[in-house]
Amino acid sequence: MLSALHKTIKHHYVRNRTNINYYYAFFLVFITPLSIPLAVYTIVTEQVTQSHLVTALVMYCLTGLGISVGFHRLLSHRAFETKPWLKYLLLVMGSSAMQGSPASWASIHIQHHVHADKKGDPHTPFKKGFWYSHCGWIFKDYQPDFKRYGKWLLQDQIVRHVSTFYFYYSLVCLLIPVLLGGWVGLVWGGLLRLFISSHATWCVNSVCHLWGKRDYDKSPDTSRNNVFVALLSFGEGWHNNHHRYMQMPFFSHKWYQIDLGKWFIQLLCLCKLAWGLKLKQVRVEPAQNLG
Ligand SMILES: [Zn+2]
Ligand SMILES: [Zn+2]
Repeated sequence: MLSALHKTIKHHYVRNRTNINYYYAFFLVFITPLSIPLAVYTIVTEQVTQSHLVTALVMYCLTGLGISVGFHRLLSHRAFETKPWLKYLLLVMGSSAMQGSPASWASIHIQHHVHADKKGDPHTPFKKGFWYSHCGWIFKDYQPDFKRYGKWLLQDQIVRHVSTFYFYYSLVCLLIPVLLGGWVGLVWGGLLRLFISSHATWCVNSVCHLWGKRDYDKSPDTSRNNVFVALLSFGEGWHNNHHRYMQMPFFSHKWYQIDLGKWFIQLLCLCKLAWGLKLKQVRVEPAQNLG
């Protein structure tokens, strides 16, 4: 009975073959913007306190680092290694963003690299325009193709576990600010956090393929470096750098490029919690790095 239930959950949540992604997409796109007038209301009525703001900021950082360092650099690109418990924690933090299970997120991201701005890229702005690449594509129930994009993902026990229970992890993370701060906590640490963090990630797919500087002009895709996106997304905005050397854990390649994800990984290294960083600027083909 239990194993059958586990199998069903795994089938649904690891591969995201339920309506959960559709509901989450609807929630992120249409419900979380309500946090703006609600947040203004809590300020005007003096209901928001310093602890609400600190909780929201801490949760925003945990969510952003979970996506950038956990889902993206550690899981999708295997740019460094870490302890199993920290990997688990980073994947749970990424799950709080409600952008898909770790396995599914990574596989679809790998597909983006392999087909960047060509047929097969799930979210290039050159296919159906800005809004489709920004948040329209998430309504399309994209099916990750694990055989072609990220064979190792489902072989990893931690990835399988967090992906299987992704729905529950993401809900528990949404409950934390409610338990800490009631409905004002939900507005700031829940809805507003999700509103900003989801648009920050989506901007990488839309804005960073349209506007910004191309430090590596010979990169075969249209990726760009955008400082505003980089600041909001813990370094993800250095997208042209990333497309050029996708296996590197550091997305900033110049001293003035702020990459909070890089600083976080450097801190992990200092604490001996991260190692095996792929720091060489070696251009590898997506299929070679990611297949
Ligand atoms: Zn890209
Ligand atoms: Zn990537």
